[in-house]
Amino acid sequence: MSTEIPKLRYSQIGKCASDIREEYNITDNKFELSKFIEWDLGIRVTPKKGLKYFLDLGALAAMEDYSSEQLYFEQPLEVDASLDHNLKIMFVDEDLYDSDNQNRIRFSMAHELGHYFLHKQIIIENQPNYKNFFLELKEEDHNMIERQADEFAGRFLVPKNLLQTELEKQLDILEQNKLSMNRISLGFVCDQIGKEFLVSAKVIEIRLKREGFWSDEDGLTL
Ligand SMILES: [Zn+2]
Repeated sequence: MSTEIPKLRYSQIGKCASDIREEYNITDNKFELSKFIEWDLGIRVTPKKGLKYFLDLGALAAMEDYSSEQLYFEQPLEVDASLDHNLKIMFVDEDLYDSDNQNRIRFSMAHELGHYFLHKQIIIENQPNYKNFFLELKEEDHNMIERQADEFAGRFLVPKNLLQTELEKQLDILEQNKLSMNRISLGFVCDQIGKEFLVSAKVIEIRLKREGFWSDEDGLTL
């Protein structure tokens, strides 16, 4: 069976992310992502030491006393977070999960939610080896699926309206200091906004561009 890879527009991914926020009444910039995943979605967040370096998630499953038919993953794994094939467990790298800086794991977990919400059908159609299916895709399809999950993560963690509010606060601060937003202050602004959403400055820079608030050519376009 060949599975059709969905070609999703950014606006469709954005709508999916904002519908979920609305459905679960997520309004806080710093909402507790793990709680949402566990309590609302019923997915157990399970920290694993050295997940990033695990060569075989099958071996990981065996350690968890899973039955042999669940030893499904045969290729090297270099990830921060990973959904199991039943979509009931999200493994997360323990060091990243316990780190003081939550930016990276937060984005990685939201990326996995991107697969969960956008690619559920593909996952179900390719059980129990959906990860191998993902890995065996043509490079362009694989990249597309990963980009879609990243786009979901950015939009889910940093929605347009809340981003605009935080950007306006930063513009006020710049103005009070007789500064304006330019290529130099962009880094500072992204850093400050990132702290509000617990994501990196890079994620904010991409979100500002995607929503048309900033462009490399024209600067601030709000
Ligand atoms: Zn992915």
